[in-house]
Amino acid sequence: MTTKSKKVSSPPSPIFRGEKKKQYEMLVELRDQLVDQIRTISSHSLSSSKQAGEELADVGSDNFNREMELGLMTEETQRIKAIEDAIKRLHDGSYGVCEDCDNKINPARLEALPYAKLCINCKSLREKEQRDSRNAPARIMD
Ligand SMILES: [Zn+2]
Repeated sequence: MTTKSKKVSSPPSPIFRGEKKKQYEMLVELRDQLVDQIRTISSHSLSSSKQAGEELADVGSDNFNREMELGLMTEETQRIKAIEDAIKRLHDGSYGVCEDCDNKINPARLEALPYAKLCINCKSLREKEQRDSRNAPARIMD
């Protein structure tokens, strides 16, 4: 007796259709890539700390490398969080809408940055504000 039941293990995702499905798959893929990267980095820093035990002279530079790797990991972790936020917005229907002005984010921008929360206008406005507040003297009492 032959059982021809091919078990295709697909993730529980086919709730989205068309454009949304594409966006969802892109976000998931991006997240998986980042998770993989972090796994590579963390396994690398584990093995390098093992070596440091044998070569005490290199401990200093090894610490430096690990700090850099940890910094990178923090950045990647934040990006993963942003992607997961975007997936949530895809679920509740607010994906692709600017957080600040409620306008639709340009599709080309979403393609370049699938987890973008702001439209290009608000993004550059915020960056300008950040630059200004960094350059300007503190005016907390105004
Ligand atoms: Zn906006």
